[in-house]
Amino acid sequence: MVHIIGGGLAGCEAAWQAASMGVDVALHEMRPVRPTAVHQTDHLAELVCSNSFRGDKLDNAVGLLKEEMRRLDSVIIRIADEVRVPAGAALAVDRHLFSERVTAAITAHPRIRVDRSEVTCLPPPAEMSPLIVATGPLTSDALSAEIAAFVGRKHLAFYDAISPIVLAETIDRSKVFRASRWNRSLRPEDRKSASGGAPSDSQAPGPAHLQSADAADGDYLNCPFTKDEYLAFHQAILGAEKATVHDFDNTKFFEGCLPIEVMAHRGTDTLRFGPMKPAGLDDPRTGRWPYAVVQMRQDTLAGDHYSLVGFQTQLKWPEQRRVFTMIPGLEQAEFVRLGMIHRNTYINGPTVLTDTWQTRSRSDMFFAGQVSGVEGYVESAASGLVAGRNAARLSLGKTPLAPPRTTAIGALGHYVSHADPAHYAPTNITFGILPALDSPPRSRHDRNLAISARALEDLEPWRKA
Ligand SMILES: Cc1cc2nc3c(=O)[nH]c(=O)nc-3n(C[C@H](O)[C@H](O)[C@H](O)COP(=O)(O)OP(=O)(O)OC[C@H]3O[C@@H](n4cnc5c(N)ncnc54)[C@H](O)[C@@H]3O)c2cc1C
Repeated sequence: MVHIIGGGLAGCEAAWQAASMGVDVALHEMRPVRPTAVHQTDHLAELVCSNSFRGDKLDNAVGLLKEEMRRLDSVIIRIADEVRVPAGAALAVDRHLFSERVTAAITAHPRIRVDRSEVTCLPPPAEMSPLIVATGPLTSDALSAEIAAFVGRKHLAFYDAISPIVLAETIDRSKVFRASRWNRSLRPEDRKSASGGAPSDSQAPGPAHLQSADAADGDYLNCPFTKDEYLAFHQAILGAEKATVHDFDNTKFFEGCLPIEVMAHRGTDTLRFGPMKPAGLDDPRTGRWPYAVVQMRQDTLAGDHYSLVGFQTQLKWPEQRRVFTMIPGLEQAEFVRLGMIHRNTYINGPTVLTDTWQTRSRSDMFFAGQVSGVEGYVESAASGLVAGRNAARLSLGKTPLAPPRTTAIGALGHYVSHADPAHYAPTNITFGILPALDSPPRSRHDRNLAISARALEDLEPWRKA
């Protein structure tokens, strides 16, 4: 029997894969018996922040990773596809339906037993073997201490910040416009499946302004800034008070998830070239790109919540209300959730793991998910997929196998096990960690597509092994 600690994205995917190979699984999840500071439900695979699984095209590395996972019968990506909501070229989901359906799929599987209790120590092989540790960035304190002792060095811990969500009906629609960057939008048939198969005109509850007529114009609501509005907003961020974060001075933010105030402090235009980039967003009232833009993405199928894209922050909550209501269109906005700061715990992958996600010092034990040193929902689930398959192989008396390095899923395992341990930082999947092509096409787009084609071909033998 495979034991898995942690029923998040990685743990659920690992359980599904192992059980699909005919091996019994015990999945140990501590919620709701012991909650975390961030999770809000007792569901498995709860999405704690954004509802986006990011890009979904093969010219983009996370799009490739998802396609590989689809081919490997990923339960996480299958259900994400089922509950997708409009988000341009990205795969975004209805977060409630998503975790509900994953929970239902896992608990209904005849080979999976879900045990709702906290695991406080790393059980020895005689008790739980093979064992997958997938306890995420908020691993409980007792187990964190055990892991620290096991890996032989102190955990690295740093903080990420998350972005606010607004109630859709409180957005001033006379000021915002609907558009996807460069007019890249979901296809009509995807839009239909995102609305549960119902024709979009009769879309279930949800504000009338979200229904079909304007949905055809793009998937994001965009709040356009003039130059004066932008400069005033930038000054307001610089002057706003931050929440006190323990050990703040030693905080190492993940570069892809920087709080807006950290970016604002880097320069007047940093936000305008980052999350507030206007390029490719034609304002239909002027026919031009605004000076800067805040983009908002639909957060639920009903369309009643919108999240501010890339607006992770650690400003104090009253300050967030004051500053974010300066955004054109959000003057009267009601915030369903405000940004916050959080802990992230992960091991130094290269000193601990092999490319099969086994630990070097105990081959029947695996790490998967954020705690193993990857970053992001999709990457966490992908690592769980490989760990689950390999733990099942061990159970069946077979040798664990790493996916080829030329695949996105294999490149991720190679990175966590081979990156420079002295400067280790968790990573999202990027084409930069896959080997280059022998004769690469000149254009970046074609090169990425060629790398994806090679990856999908190379994945096949591993998939069938
Ligand atoms: C506040 C916050 C915001 C984030 N925002 C984003 C985002 O917007 N996009 C993104 O891609 N990623 C985000 N992340 C990272 C995100 O956590 C991961 O991408 C993803 O959730 C990792 O999946 P996981 O399975 O490793 O961990 P989780 O999904 O956290 O699952 C781990 C599970 O283990 C359980 N657990 C912990 N300790 C024990 C124990 N001792 N015994 C039993 N069970 C235990 C927890 O209850 C939890 O259910 C965020 C993380 C945090 C904390």
